[in-house]
Amino acid sequence: MTLALLLLRSGLRVTVVERTASLDREYRGEILQPGGLVLLDELGVLAGARRRGAYPLEGFRLVENGRVLMSFDYRRLPTAHNYLLSLPQAHLLAELLEQCQASPRFQYLNARASDLVREGEVVRGVRASSGQIEHCVMASCVVGADGRYSKVRRLAGIDGGRLDVFDQDVVWFRLPSAERLGEVVVNRAGGSPVIAYDSYPGYLQLGWTLAKGEWSRLASAGIQAVRARIRAAAPQLADRIDESVTSFADLSLLDVFGACAPTWAQGGLVLIGDAAHTHGPLGAQGINLAVQDAVMLHPILVAAVSDDDVSVDRLRSFERIRRPQVNAVLKFQKIQAKMMLAPAGLAAYLRPKVARTLMRTPIGAKLTNLVAFGDRGIRVRHSLLTTPLEV
Ligand SMILES: Cc1cc2nc3c(=O)[nH]c(=O)nc-3n(C[C@H](O)[C@H](O)[C@H](O)COP(=O)(O)OP(=O)(O)OC[C@H]3O[C@@H](n4cnc5c(N)ncnc54)[C@H](O)[C@@H]3O)c2cc1C
Repeated sequence: MTLALLLLRSGLRVTVVERTASLDREYRGEILQPGGLVLLDELGVLAGARRRGAYPLEGFRLVENGRVLMSFDYRRLPTAHNYLLSLPQAHLLAELLEQCQASPRFQYLNARASDLVREGEVVRGVRASSGQIEHCVMASCVVGADGRYSKVRRLAGIDGGRLDVFDQDVVWFRLPSAERLGEVVVNRAGGSPVIAYDSYPGYLQLGWTLAKGEWSRLASAGIQAVRARIRAAAPQLADRIDESVTSFADLSLLDVFGACAPTWAQGGLVLIGDAAHTHGPLGAQGINLAVQDAVMLHPILVAAVSDDDVSVDRLRSFERIRRPQVNAVLKFQKIQAKMMLAPAGLAAYLRPKVARTLMRTPIGAKLTNLVAFGDRGIRVRHSLLTTPLEV
């Protein structure tokens, strides 16, 4: 949707093919980092998305048995967006969609992409179905932005490049909450760390981490046994957990994995966001990286389409710049997960020592900057935004 708006504002015609009928559905990630916020603000969608409802968060804390091991205070960052934003994805998507719909060159097709149209080696469009109706959307270029289990990627015959680098899965659930935490907290009370943050409207979003593969054995013991384990991991919330976690329908398991497809481009086709590279939830990077991908691809695509050259070489120029940045994030997330979530072993032994060092040296501030912004050089190419916002 971000890329769609950028391309529309550069005068191109765009069709978004989206399989779900409503924006009012279950989402997972909703924390935006300053790097993503800056770009969405430059694009003119942040204020409108925020007005629909959001909670700013001051930073991130790692707490072990009541002791603060690490604290990253975003208020010290040198930017107007010196905070994390817990923004429901539906609010951001609704704002993007509304602005896209202001353009007569935009089409929103509620259908499921099911096949690629090829001419020899080159992708020329997408087939999609809604119920019994079959659509064929021809395009100068197809962008696969359809998430971690991307159908477009599979249809193109590109492997997802799954990297089993994380040792934990996350069970996700929400509790109604009248008070705000005001930050993201990873709390290590029992063996299973719990991630917590405010989620609009009036919820505490919790991610209970557990060893990979442990869930099926645990779940077979029944909801009461599961609830007892969650209570042990978050004793301060025990009463509210009893009230709100009453069946398995209240919990959803996230298979945490990283992935990086071996190639992101073919003639007439580019992959971006989770379809190209998937990230674990720790460090809240996925939406920000997807937005950055869109901003970085925008000038490349505008030039390729206007030169009528969507060859694989031309489109790979996106991948050549972006892949090293994405690899750096994947590598850092892996270290982060080991240091923050690993239950025992060397990482657990070293955790307080590393935390102390990080907090006492400029490395802590440097890491906050890295997580908050990623590559600071990525900016909206305003010179290409030739079409006013409202047409
Ligand atoms: C539990 C969890 C917590 C997370 N927390 C955060 C966080 O706090 N911050 C953060 O930045 N990231 C977070 N992430 C990651 C983040 O959600 C993703 O990285 C981000 O949504 C990727 O954006 P995307 O546009 O590439 O894909 P998606 O957001 O997955 O969007 C893909 C879209 O394609 C549509 N689609 C799929 N298949 C088809 C098809 N065949 N035809 C038509 N449409 C199709 C889907 O309906 C969907 O709308 C989290 C992820 C999870 C799972």
